[in-house]
Amino acid sequence: RNGFKRESYILSVDVGTTSIRCHIFDKEAQIRGSCTTKVNLLYPEPGLVELDPEELWRGFVKVVNGAVQDSGLQMRQMETLGISTQRGTFTTWDRKTGVPFHNFISWQDLRAVELVRSWNNSCTMKAIHGVMMALHFLSKNKRFQAASLIVFSTQHVTFRLAWALRHWKQVEAVAEGTCCFGTIDTWLLYKLTKGRFRHSRVCVCSCTVRDCVLRMLIYLLSYIIPIHSYMISSSPFCFTSHRFGSTDPSIFGVSIPIMSVMADQQAAMFGECCFDIGDVKITMGTGTFMNINTGSKPHTSVAGLYPVVGWKIGPEVVYLAEGNAADTGTAIKWAQELELFSDVRETDAMANSVANSDGVCFVPSFSGLQAPLNDPKACASFMGLKPSTTKSHLVRAILESVAFRSVCLLESLCVPMCVADGGICTNDFVMQLTADLFGRKVARPTQHEMSCLGAAFVAGLEVGFWKSQEELKKLQRTDRVFLPRNLYRMGDGGTEGEYTPILQRWEQALKRSMNWYG
Ligand code: ADP
Repeated sequence: RNGFKRESYILSVDVGTTSIRCHIFDKEAQIRGSCTTKVNLLYPEPGLVELDPEELWRGFVKVVNGAVQDSGLQMRQMETLGISTQRGTFTTWDRKTGVPFHNFISWQDLRAVELVRSWNNSCTMKAIHGVMMALHFLSKNKRFQAASLIVFSTQHVTFRLAWALRHWKQVEAVAEGTCCFGTIDTWLLYKLTKGRFRHSRVCVCSCTVRDCVLRMLIYLLSYIIPIHSYMISSSPFCFTSHRFGSTDPSIFGVSIPIMSVMADQQAAMFGECCFDIGDVKITMGTGTFMNINTGSKPHTSVAGLYPVVGWKIGPEVVYLAEGNAADTGTAIKWAQELELFSDVRETDAMANSVANSDGVCFVPSFSGLQAPLNDPKACASFMGLKPSTTKSHLVRAILESVAFRSVCLLESLCVPMCVADGGICTNDFVMQLTADLFGRKVARPTQHEMSCLGAAFVAGLEVGFWKSQEELKKLQRTDRVFLPRNLYRMGDGGTEGEYTPILQRWEQALKRSMNWYG
């Protein structure tokens, strides 16, 4: 099939919240083979969200084998493997036997909610906020004001890990040095390399994923002293691209070097080629995540954007500022489970089948409202229901809320355009409304599974498959650019756009949903 000379390819796997997907990329960054499997989320009790580590591992192996089979290529043609994973989901396992002590606790899990609440209400946090506010008044530096707004959330691994340490005897083995802790990437590396990857007590994980765990530290340090850059560049954090180990030959028949391990949002940013300061992407998957490249300096804002490590390639550390809305895709999935529609692809036509949502507003906040509202006590809600309300109105209200939340995040930025990816970006209704309300172009690349492409790009650069970031930019293909249609801002005749009152009503619904659990 490939003539005399065997071409090589890049294997890349993204472990998302809803699915695990593997793509094989060629030199033109075109997909040569793919395989996807569903992630089976377990809900043992209301609020608890878990994943079975062994099932996840089997799913990983299945998609890699499936993609290679789909491509008609051979495993030995895979030059390297890149991995991107959801962040903040972790498990612990016995280092001697490799057997997990418990299921993965998902980033969506709410078991630590009480612990988080008590920390947020603690005297220590109040004192930190007070000191930061005082510093803000003295220095007029907005960074201190932003620091005074810091609140913890259940998405921080630390709290769920503390919960596990308190409630599960077996995890106490950590004290005896027999317990490994790891996020999904660590677990996969452990399995792929048959444990030849582990460190002393805690398994290594890439800096972008571990970054979630240590976010608060970077967060605070970034306000106070400029040692954060030193800390990242000299710390035991792994590089984003690095020889993490090779797959054990017993798994895929050959040994494939693993050259990139990244967190999903950072990988998506890299896949979108957002290499320059000011580049913005918005990923609309289970949650919506907006990231802006801030270069070599971490940045935060009073709007609730927090700094994360983007990637560490060679000596260069690139930071991103991030804001998210945790429950956008979750709301769409929820509506599907309620049988408002059977296939997500129907939602576009359903939303367009009605002129408006008939005054119905939906607030997508099953786990509170993140930036720029920053209210962990907000509830999700449907408001303005009438006897005339149909399923189409409800679906339109949900899709509108996804666009509204994106715009809340994008509004704070002075950028000429943004690129979008993630499952929801295939929905034209959401994309067009986002561009309309943002008032600027929103581009959708041909490939919307950017996390996979990003992990492939990083791994490919590391092995010389691709030579430079400039070369990667030339491989980018845009499917469609959504141009704003003046639906919100003042039109040419000075009239308000038709979405102005709808958005205002939604903002009222948002306010009413806030502090619900206060
Ligand atoms: P993740 O990486 O978090 O697993 P994805 O990027 O795969 O998420 O996106 C999955 C989400 O996108 C799901 O919530 C799904 O309901 C939603 N989705 C996918 N396609 C569409 C569509 N055409 N319209 C609306 N939502 C969609």
